Amino acid sequence: MEASGVTILTEAKVQSVEAAPVGAKVQVEVGGKVESFEAEKVLVAVGRRTDTEALGLDKVGIAHDRGRITVNDKMETNVPNIYAIGDCLGKVMLAHVASAQGEVAAENALGETAVYDGKTNPSCVYTDPEFAGVGLTEEKAKEEGIPYQVGKFPLMANGKALIMNGGEGMIKFIIGKEYGEVLGVHILGPRATDLIGECALAIGMEATVDEIYATIHAHPTVTEAVREAALAATKRAIHIPNK
Ligand SMILES: Cc1cc2nc3c(=O)[nH]c(=O)nc-3n(C[C@H](O)[C@H](O)[C@H](O)COP(=O)(O)OP(=O)(O)OC[C@H]3O[C@@H](n4cnc5c(N)ncnc54)[C@H](O)[C@@H]3O)c2cc1C
Repeated sequence: MEASGVTILTEAKVQSVEAAPVGAKVQVEVGGKVESFEAEKVLVAVGRRTDTEALGLDKVGIAHDRGRITVNDKMETNVPNIYAIGDCLGKVMLAHVASAQGEVAAENALGETAVYDGKTNPSCVYTDPEFAGVGLTEEKAKEEGIPYQVGKFPLMANGKALIMNGGEGMIKFIIGKEYGEVLGVHILGPRATDLIGECALAIGMEATVDEIYATIHAHPTVTEAVREAALAATKRAIHIPNK
């Protein structure tokens, strides 16, 4: 976005938005200084919150934290036979998470034993290029004191990505230092939100990085870059220098 002339201000506090001839005049405080600029359009995306007031949680005695319903990994609330899933838990507010939790709740309600485990849950951003990530970030691995190593593969070195978007983006693998288990994968590039499925499976199966690169990936596809990033994590990449 910066390459196409977009200025990005983070940690900026919007102070006012007023109508202006071009569209809107916006005042923003950044690092103690107030900046003002005009924009044709303003997109407001301030987040979401649970909407459980009308449910009468307290009347039924369902435990919650300021409206966010408390459940265990079987999606059971503290009240027998009442389950909760999805956005009303106020945690990961995504459609595929609500759906996975719904299946767990339904199975348990029917007498099966199912548990929800969010470790294979991908986060996807449908921008251009797309972003998708699953598992640990480097920051999280550091925070948890997990010894790790990283492999990065630029999509500039992948033929299919070059055709699809000029090779913009990269794939990053985070693997355990001792055993090479896949801890996290983060992808910026074309089809990132599709590519992440293989990486989520690897995390779910506790696969090691050599199991990813022992798998043959079709040519010409962007999936080859997933394998190359896995190779890069052990300094065995083929289409880039290994540093
Ligand atoms: C603009 C937008 C874009 C999004 N894009 C994505 C995306 O790209 N990918 C993604 O994974 N997620 C996305 N999400 C999030 C996703 O939509 C939610 O996480 C998901 O729908 C949550 O499912 P849910 O079943 O918990 O809640 P909901 O889908 O909100 O379903 C709750 C249902 O309960 C009904 N209801 C509420 N109160 C009562 C009541 N008292 N009695 C009976 N019925 C009631 C509501 O009408 C609603 O139909 C997006 C959300 C928004 C707002």
